[in-house]
Amino acid sequence: MSDAIRPQPGILDIALYEGGKAHVAGVQNVVKLSSNENPFGAPDRAKDAYLRAVHQLHRYPSTDHASLRNAIAEVHGLDADRVICGVGSDEVIQWLAQAYAGPRDEVVFTEHGFLMYRISALAVGATPVEVPERERVTDVDAILAACSPRTRLVFIANPNNPTGTMISPPEVARLAEKLPKQAILVLDGAYAEYVEGFDAGLSLVEARSNVVMTRTFSKIYGLGGLRIGWGYGPKPIIDVLNRIRQPFNLSNAQLDAAEAAVRDQDWVAKCRSENARMRAWLANALAEHGVPSDVSSANFILARFASVEEAEACDTFLQGQGLLVRRVASYKLPHCLRITVGDEASCRRIAHAVAQFKGTR
Ligand SMILES: *Cc1c(COP(=O)(O)O)cnc(C)c1O
Repeated sequence: MSDAIRPQPGILDIALYEGGKAHVAGVQNVVKLSSNENPFGAPDRAKDAYLRAVHQLHRYPSTDHASLRNAIAEVHGLDADRVICGVGSDEVIQWLAQAYAGPRDEVVFTEHGFLMYRISALAVGATPVEVPERERVTDVDAILAACSPRTRLVFIANPNNPTGTMISPPEVARLAEKLPKQAILVLDGAYAEYVEGFDAGLSLVEARSNVVMTRTFSKIYGLGGLRIGWGYGPKPIIDVLNRIRQPFNLSNAQLDAAEAAVRDQDWVAKCRSENARMRAWLANALAEHGVPSDVSSANFILARFASVEEAEACDTFLQGQGLLVRRVASYKLPHCLRITVGDEASCRRIAHAVAQFKGTR
């Protein structure tokens, strides 16, 4: 190809996002604990809504997503006019970068933060700024110290992936309060539903003009395969994002399934409590076998090994048993494995296999 044909600056610096492993050569019936998926799948009501959408295949979907936005607003007590729905929360993250950052602007996120923050910054030619964490916990002072007159966006996930740790609402509020005037704080609440009684920062969004929240149907709602997320923020910011949103970004099937899912809060409560029960059991079982983890507030555990070599050997051992977990070297945690909290049988299999692995060493 001619040298004259070049992509925009930043794009060739993007390392391709790698999803969690779904297959191992030669092994049937794998247990996939590599992508933080809900082991119980999606609620039946969402599946029924998806099936019914087949009758609408010839129809263009709604462009304003009013029905889904109203359902989200009702369930969470929000202003429906300030809800925006996207192809996963990834799309909302992408709009924020596209609308608010460009060449010479800085996008701040933490050392073990979600990979999409860096990818979205590079995609628009902005400069990613990575901030150290304190023992795998978001450090508000370090973030504030990294901010400059060029900072346009600051992303934190709370709870964070892949650490599972979270910071308190007053810490998040302090971050929002002290940010430079031109910067937006984006609170990624992908795992918020796993924390009993947590508002995910919604009250902060309501109180301020510089905070946006992103949420997803991919985790507790079990709809990762369908790609639906949403954002909530100040009206002027949501209006900006709507200008760059494709009018038909979500299909009828996505809209209808998500609406049915968000109205099923009994399902959310059941999955949250079952996750908490098995997460505590699994963390404890691994610790007993010499594999510690930080207290997790999400649907996974970040298992820490003595060395990179031991983590890799354990991953290989687990794969041999058809147990797929996530290596997190790309999150600067090469001595760790991220293990999704599965159903009880999967958790027992993982604990048993890790014990066996430790016994062989
Ligand atoms: C899984 C996850 C998401 C969800 O992304 P979707 O595009 O909604 O599937 C967002 N942020 C974090 C930190 C995640 O781990």
